[in-house]
Amino acid sequence: MSWTGQAVRERLEALAPPALAESWDNVGWQIGHDGVSVSHVLVALDLDERVLEEARRVGADLIVAHHPLFFHPLRRLDTSTPHGRLVAELVRANVAVYAAHTNLDAVRDGVNGALAEALGLSPVAPLQPVDGAPHGWGFGAICEGKPLSTGELVQRVRARLGTPVPRVTPGRVAAHRRVALLGGSGAAFIEAAVEAGCTCLITGEVKYHDAQRAQALGLTVIEADHYYSEAPVLSRLAEWLRPLGMPVSVSRVVTSPFAPEWATSEIETT
Ligand SMILES: [Zn+2]
Repeated sequence: MSWTGQAVRERLEALAPPALAESWDNVGWQIGHDGVSVSHVLVALDLDERVLEEARRVGADLIVAHHPLFFHPLRRLDTSTPHGRLVAELVRANVAVYAAHTNLDAVRDGVNGALAEALGLSPVAPLQPVDGAPHGWGFGAICEGKPLSTGELVQRVRARLGTPVPRVTPGRVAAHRRVALLGGSGAAFIEAAVEAGCTCLITGEVKYHDAQRAQALGLTVIEADHYYSEAPVLSRLAEWLRPLGMPVSVSRVVTSPFAPEWATSEIETT
């Protein structure tokens, strides 16, 4: 049995309207179109040759990815590069690709709602509202509840998100009643978190100078790794697609490029 690409696209757009995506983003069809026939969907954060192999293995002919395949206009498909080869392989394998990126960040039930749920935190408002977002939502989430220590939050990041080695920038306060969340790269939301009265920001990643900026403002930052901060949305996406009646698989490939064993193992110098 098969469905049209249009049916899948419309279902995804009902969750994450493309109009909510940032202007620099490239969401929607990356490879394929409304007329493709879909019999099995694989949802993944990233696309690489391991995810394509997984799609082949489960029999998926559509990959719904969070991170787009293309950001810049394509002038040449150079199949000698890893990216060009991957695109050619996807086309050869007849696997379509659809991306829901910053539009999935901007909705309450998207990346940050899934992150909050995974961490057992209660979102009360977005960090940055977006015009036209359903439920008056937007980027990030401000969560409120009983005070949690930095240690408890780090433990949740490890245990519930699976982050092997969270990185912590301690701020001024040890217990947090208001916690900001931003799946992915959160540096641009440091000031917004402080202005919203949050004393801790849990995000995927920040750079050195961003962490210093946060520390100077007294904000604790817990970096969960980009991958692990966004991975909770995958099962939510799969659940969202299931009413269409088609088989939906969640990718099991951990596409984070960071190898935790090198952070924890003893370095042999002999
Ligand atoms: Zn991301």
